[in-house]
Amino acid sequence: MENDEKDEKLMKVIEEKISECTACQLSQTRTNVVPGEGNIHSPIVFVGEGPGQEEDLSGRPFVGKAGQLFDKILESAGFIRKELYITNVVKCRPPENRVPSSEEVLSCSHFLMAQLAVINPQIIVPLGATALNFFMKGSITESRGKFFEWKGGIRLFPMFHPSYLLRNQSKEQGSPKALTWDDIRILKKAYDEIMAHGKDGLVV
Ligand code: SF4
Repeated sequence: MENDEKDEKLMKVIEEKISECTACQLSQTRTNVVPGEGNIHSPIVFVGEGPGQEEDLSGRPFVGKAGQLFDKILESAGFIRKELYITNVVKCRPPENRVPSSEEVLSCSHFLMAQLAVINPQIIVPLGATALNFFMKGSITESRGKFFEWKGGIRLFPMFHPSYLLRNQSKEQGSPKALTWDDIRILKKAYDEIMAHGKDGLVV
């Protein structure tokens, strides 16, 4: 319990630092920072690219159209969103939803690393190419749906970004949407194993 309180305090400090941050130009056009939200003891952390318009207005991650699809994907496998932790590589909205520059990603990276240090998850799920490239080099199409070793025993399980799925509506076998529905089930199985055997119980 003592550690839980310490983690909560640490996460609050990180969120305060994010809210005050002006380290890159995205601070000039944001309405709100979007630090991330959820269970800071979750064994799984989802990491997207950056906030969109709805997220910028609300200060919450994955609440726009892509976020609503993301919720459906989670629910389809039996995940409960508030039991997971969800954040982005950059914490302020890139104008016109452009891809954040490498300088912006670099400026913001210590916040994500600090969040991950507090949560200490078993699995990180990079959503889309920008998040994937934060953690490892590779193509999202080739990497999705597979586990990779990262640092400190943490595994990566890349998946398509939900906004990519919004642009690719087909549900045919082999389509990005159909593959994502397969991936989320694999992830849920791993989550269930961790929950059944403790935080060190992942055997996949
Ligand atoms: S995107 Fe990150 S580094 Fe840039 S201003 Fe926002 S919090 Fe700071």
